[in-house]
Amino acid sequence: MNLEQLIFGAPLYSRWENKVIIDEEGQPVEYSLKYLVESFNERVELYCTKCERNRVFAADKNIFDVPNISSPHYPARIKDKPSFFKTFRCSGDEHHKILYSFIVEGDELIKVAEYPSKYDSVKNTFSNYKKILKKEKITELAKAAQLESYGYAIASFLYYRRIFEDIILQTFLESDIENKITEEEFRGKRMEDKTKYIQDFLPDYFKENSHMYGVLSKGIHELQEDECREYLPIVKTIIFFSLDEAVDKKNKELRKIEVSKKLNEIKSKLK
Ligand SMILES: [Zn+2]
Repeated sequence: MNLEQLIFGAPLYSRWENKVIIDEEGQPVEYSLKYLVESFNERVELYCTKCERNRVFAADKNIFDVPNISSPHYPARIKDKPSFFKTFRCSGDEHHKILYSFIVEGDELIKVAEYPSKYDSVKNTFSNYKKILKKEKITELAKAAQLESYGYAIASFLYYRRIFEDIILQTFLESDIENKITEEEFRGKRMEDKTKYIQDFLPDYFKENSHMYGVLSKGIHELQEDECREYLPIVKTIIFFSLDEAVDKKNKELRKIEVSKKLNEIKSKLK
């Protein structure tokens, strides 16, 4: 896992060994992960929930010089810092920030906070899909994102899979296939065979990722947490890609209707 994934992508309560060895010009040099996270200084594009769009965020500097810490239990100076924050600020407004918090416990670094939540960062994009998905499916999409942000890979995978299956079924129902089998027969097929049956009506990226259909057909008991974590990004990308495509198509249809309505109005005025 690289630093960017650790800071921005990892679910809460992920743990990593704090000691890392980095090869510097052929010499192994020991660092602490805490130091590397604190000094992470790349600009990154993230979704700003206040601007409601992607923005460039940069890490705040000089936030680690905390004065001496004391506690009613230990009035003398405590050397151990309880936690540290990593704050990123939006290029559009200085009050828009995203923050993460980590603690070091023993030999490990643990991610303990993230604000706004991953769920908040994706939820707004769901309203784009209202035109093409039933309310029930939007809720499932939101649940999948929420479960994912808490690190529940299998549960989240199951929700995304339901949405994926729904997209496949809708494509089947709308497709114009000669001697088309019945919906019941289609439902009875394995995911691999379903996608093969309607492949002419699916975008290329469905075919390019056909290796994951085996996982999509697995029963709940067969699924492994690691496997789901690995396939989640692919399933998600395919889902969001095809949803975006469906929204584009819908918008074009709506525009077409709008235009022909206007043309008819003009025509009837000309008569
Ligand atoms: Zn912003």
